[in-house]
Parts: sequence; structure tokens; C-alpha cells
Amino acid sequence: MAAISMRNIVKRYGDGYQAVDNVSLDIADGEFVILVGPSGCGKSTLLRMIVGLEDITSGDMMIGDVRVNQKAPRDRNLSMVFQNYALYPHLTVFENIAFPLRLKNTSDKEVKDRVQEAAELLQLTEHLERKPANLSGGQRQRVAMGRAIVRNADAFLFDEPLSNLDAKLRGQMRTEIARMQKRLGTTTVYVTHDQTEAMTLGDRIAVLRRGVLQQVGTARQLYEEP
Ligand code: ADP
Ligand code: ADP
Repeated sequence: MAAISMRNIVKRYGDGYQAVDNVSLDIADGEFVILVGPSGCGKSTLLRMIVGLEDITSGDMMIGDVRVNQKAPRDRNLSMVFQNYALYPHLTVFENIAFPLRLKNTSDKEVKDRVQEAAELLQLTEHLERKPANLSGGQRQRVAMGRAIVRNADAFLFDEPLSNLDAKLRGQMRTEIARMQKRLGTTTVYVTHDQTEAMTLGDRIAVLRRGVLQQVGTARQLYEEP
């Protein structure tokens, strides 16, 4: 069974614009899929429909064997990382990462264990008592990722998480994201307009153009073979 299964997904906005045109895609459990394409091709729209932030016009969105079309984001057990980090400025790094667990009344002991585990994976252990204003861009993005991975979500969804970082940091963070995803083995969908990111991250690439899924395959299948 696929972890995430999209069947004939269509999105028409209120003004009639069709942003996503009959997309079908199966994402396997533990797989890392990159959704790539030029600005405006419908990547964010598709990602937001997986998470539940955008209504689906028609088609079936399945998470495991559950049809989630009508389910609110909080009932889907997915974690999303946005391109603007959306950290809480008045909270420490520790409390920013802990936030999703606090909402679920997790015990202090478990919060501490889980936050420390995430912090180690993301090299934030030494910064847990700092506030976001005193962190670099890369560290802030790591905190946002920490918040996404701290709970046991069924999948991670990334919407251009590195686009606000400089080129050097982006390369470094790419490596870290790939490592983190392999360590955790969590199904991941990652949206980018950056070809390099598409080719170096992930198991498979899905190419979207004007709302249509044009190709799906490994980097080798898509970019290297004649
Ligand atoms: P991408 O993430 O690939 O840049 P988006 O999913 O953000 O693309 O947008 C796809 C298309 O849908 C674009 O043409 C965009 O202008 C349009 N669009 C996005 N959001 C809305 C909206 N709320 N209302 C109308 N059109 C929208
Ligand atoms: P992205 O960085 O994904 O391309 P945009 O800057 O295109 O995002 O869009 C930012 C926000 O504006 C999104 O929430 C999107 O839904 C909304 N939006 C984009 N295009 C339109 C549009 N044509 N009409 C209304 N809202 C739009």
C-alpha cells in the first residue's frame, strides 16, 4: 500500500483557474519524492492539498488506506516545513521544537527526550536555550525542521525550505536533509523549483508543468538517459 496516493487530483481556484490537472501519483512508505517545476506550475497547490490546507476540486487523496479529502489538517498526522520558518520569536529553540508536543499534553520527560533527539540530528544541541533572533538563517531553518520531525508524523512535506538561504548553506542543508530523511525513514514530499535540488535529493522526481504531471522517475531516468 502506498503511504500517499493521489488519484486524478484536480484543483480549480475560485476564479476558475485550473492549477492542478488530473494528477495521479503513488508515494511508497519511506520514499523521498521531489516535486519539481517552474514557478506557478502548481507545486505548492498540490502540496497544500496533501496537507489539507487547500480544498480538492475532484479526485481522491489517500493517506495509507484512508481517504482524507474531507479531513482537516490536524487529522492527517503530517508535518509541513514552510519556506518562511514561522518560528515563535518569544520562545526558545527548545520550546519552538517542543511546540507540537505541548499541544498534545506530552509528559515533560518525553518532551525532553524527543526534543534532544531532534536537536542532535539537526546539530542544535548547543542552541536550545537561545531565541530565534539570535540564530543564523540555517539554524532557524533547522529549528523549523526540528519542529516538524519531533512528532511521529506519517510524512514530512517541505515547501521550498531552502530558498531563503545562500548557495553554500543550501548545499550543506541539502546534505543534512537527505541524511535526516534516511535516518528517520519517514515518507517525504519536497517541493522545489531548483533542478540541482531535484537531482541530488530524494529517491524519485515528479516533474510538474502547468498543473500536469509530465514525468516521474529517478534522477538517472529523467536526466541522464537519452
Ligand atoms: P508553484 O508552487 O508551482 O509556484 P502554485 O501552486 O503556488 O505554484 O500556483 C499555481 C497556479 O495557481 C499559479 O498560476 C497561481 O497564480 C495560481 N494560484 C495559486 N493560488 C491561487 C489562489 N488562491 N487563487 C487563484 N489562483 C491561485
Ligand atoms: P510560491 O512561492 O509558492 O510561488 P506565491 O508567491 O505564488 O507562492 O503565492 C503566495 C500566496 O499567494 C499563496 O498562498 C497563493 O495561494 C496565493 N496566490 C498565488 N497566486 C494567486 C492568485 N493568482 N490569486 C490569488 N492568490 C494567489
